[in-house]
Amino acid sequence: MKSAAVVNYAPEKGSVEVREIETPTIGSEDVLLEVANVGVCGSDLHQWTADHSWPVNYPVVLGHEFGGRIVEIGKDVEGWKVGDRVVSETAAIISPNNPMTKRGLYNLDPTRKGFGYGVNGAMTKYVRVPSRILHHVPDQLPFEQACLTEPCCVAYSAVVKNARIEPGDRVVVLGPGTIGILCAAMARLCGAQVAIVGLPQDAHRLEIAKQYGCEVIIGDAKPWATARDGLGCDGVIDAAGASITLKIALDIVRPAGWISKVGWGPQPLGFNLDPLVQKNITLQGSFSHNWPIWERVIALLSSGQFDVKPIIGGVWPVTEWHEAFEKMHKGEVVKSVLRPV
Ligand SMILES: [Zn+2]
Repeated sequence: MKSAAVVNYAPEKGSVEVREIETPTIGSEDVLLEVANVGVCGSDLHQWTADHSWPVNYPVVLGHEFGGRIVEIGKDVEGWKVGDRVVSETAAIISPNNPMTKRGLYNLDPTRKGFGYGVNGAMTKYVRVPSRILHHVPDQLPFEQACLTEPCCVAYSAVVKNARIEPGDRVVVLGPGTIGILCAAMARLCGAQVAIVGLPQDAHRLEIAKQYGCEVIIGDAKPWATARDGLGCDGVIDAAGASITLKIALDIVRPAGWISKVGWGPQPLGFNLDPLVQKNITLQGSFSHNWPIWERVIALLSSGQFDVKPIIGGVWPVTEWHEAFEKMHKGEVVKSVLRPV
């Protein structure tokens, strides 16, 4: 049987189209998932516009933020059954013997390959998923929201695991993309006072951040950061896609404060890092997520403590991927969601 899939077929800009693909055959430790919804990620857009910085295994079906129902089970799979509602992590291929995998940090296994660039992703009807990265989704959590577990896990990792927030801390988030807004919302959940910083063209996305109780700053964040005692904010989450924002972070954070950097930027730095030393700042990178983070985030989404509804800008059939990508690319919506046809 064939299904429509959003395929990134070549490294040139714009090399994405809908193709009919065969239903994948599964291995003994896999399940076949019937996709219900799949989120469009900034990285899908980057592969489309060809300004990504990771190797892609062309042609590949895009999409790594997804959930659905199990429709087939490999012969060695235990603990799952046909009909189960699930979401899947992104680490489709890992080496079980890598030392990072053995510590449970398989997300940091350098040989890992993910959905949507290394193996076929979920912007189609059926996707093959190893059972080791599945998580149950409770009935009360709709797939349109559950499919966004992945970016929420990125935020949880950056804000909870790779930063330290105490209630009442003042935290600045740089960058109002999906990850920036989710990080801001997660920092609110941790009890911080949060300001999110963007540019004039980010006004719509910043408005959505207000729904999470965040203050919004267009331009200079220094006055907000220093408002309490003149020394700077307690922490900065750098979720912007440009290296230069690290300079802003170093400038506005207080002595002995922290910076959690989750945004990527291929440009070289071109500025002095002495303030990092002089102010005794902790600079922490944050990448991806692992099994316990997924379980926790699903619990937060299911209980309603963490709500992704404000960021969902619409749901499009995969055949209308172009409009969904375009709206996100232009910043008209924070997050586009697709459904298979
Ligand atoms: Zn993503």
